[in-house]
Amino acid sequence: MNDSSLTQLTEAVARDTFGRSFGGRAAFNSRFRSRGGDVNVKQSLIRVSRRLYEEHGQEAVIGVLRHELCHLFLFRDGLPYTHRSKEFKELAAAVDAPRFAPPIERNRQPKRYRRFYYACPACGSRFKTNAKIHAPCPHCHQATLLYTGTRKTTHPL
Ligand SMILES: [Zn+2]
Ligand SMILES: [Zn+2]
Repeated sequence: MNDSSLTQLTEAVARDTFGRSFGGRAAFNSRFRSRGGDVNVKQSLIRVSRRLYEEHGQEAVIGVLRHELCHLFLFRDGLPYTHRSKEFKELAAAVDAPRFAPPIERNRQPKRYRRFYYACPACGSRFKTNAKIHAPCPHCHQATLLYTGTRKTTHPL
């Protein structure tokens, strides 16, 4: 799902759940850690955590969209739109919008692609792999590849 399909999804949720038009823009945010999303009511801009989508899928995104649309539509109607307002609580309950996003795993390390560098002692060819290997040189088949570390090296063998 990209930003434009997220915007289409928001429009669909606005129509199906609220019977109203969104007419704004929705975008994924990769930097949100624990929060599921937010809305800039003046710009009609909804941002959704990309991690939330990756870890909890589209259902969780729809929940966040309902929640943010509650803020937005109350604002458009000139009503109190903060979490603690009676209007927000009632509208959120009426459309079954969650108060909180499901937890997003904290401190998840970004996936690191380790590289392993090998060189052939016979023909001098160099290779990089995603895993440690023990294999003959695929270039000359004359020798077993030598592991040279996890960094590209320019040292002679
Ligand atoms: Zn909120
Ligand atoms: Zn070789």
